[in-house]
Amino acid sequence: MTLAGELLKDATAARKTWSERQTERFAKACQKRVRDSQGFETSASLKVLAPAQTRQGAQKAAQELKRSLDAHGFAASDVQVEALAKGMIFRLSVQASWVRDEPQKTETGGFRGQCPVCLGSKVLVALAPCGHTVCHQCKGKLPAGRKCPMCRSVVERVTAGIFVS
Ligand SMILES: [Zn+2]
Ligand SMILES: [Zn+2]
Repeated sequence: MTLAGELLKDATAARKTWSERQTERFAKACQKRVRDSQGFETSASLKVLAPAQTRQGAQKAAQELKRSLDAHGFAASDVQVEALAKGMIFRLSVQASWVRDEPQKTETGGFRGQCPVCLGSKVLVALAPCGHTVCHQCKGKLPAGRKCPMCRSVVERVTAGIFVS
């Protein structure tokens, strides 16, 4: 391979790693928002500096990032290139929405057991940090302030299911 070819290959690999990292960052931001809002869909926007010095490079990075977001299951992702400092710096303006897994989808996975709240035999989720379990439906009806129905401690997180290896 020629030197030019090798440099190009390096740049492509670096861009791929970069966009995967941005996608991860984006996913985390969206997850936090979904948790905070307790909603099923959220959209987030993010501005990041493009890992490129030219508009062409920034556009390539934008394409790669959009591909990565789409592959991650983001809906309606949009990545725009903005030129800053008279075209010396390029910034990407990223927007995407994320739809939380459908209840019937999560319903199929994970451990089934008796929910201590509704007493039904359902797929259970664990509340963190206390570790008590409730079913998906009861999780959606947590009392005000998101307190655990068993021990009243504040629920910081809820697992998607209980998976036993
Ligand atoms: Zn229940
Ligand atoms: Zn508890």
